[in-house]
Amino acid sequence: MSICLNKNEVPMIPDACPVCKVLLRSLDKLAFEYCGACADCAQSFVDVNKGAWDSGWRPSKGEIVARLQKRKEEPFFYVNDEYI
Ligand SMILES: [Zn+2]
Repeated sequence: MSICLNKNEVPMIPDACPVCKVLLRSLDKLAFEYCGACADCAQSFVDVNKGAWDSGWRPSKGEIVARLQKRKEEPFFYVNDEYI
């Protein structure tokens, strides 16, 4: 989801999260503007370590891989039991 105002500009928002490398979605725009990462990284890494994040800390590759493994187990579409 690159957002550019014209073709000569560097994208303001990259195609993938700089932390986990997952493609950014439109819902990640606010998180990216907030912390430079996707919404999931913002929730999983930034919010729980905001002070460290602001000081330059980033999760290790192992922490990122563990989070991505957990994301694979999570459904991406939630349905209320009432409609099943
Ligand atoms: Zn991310």
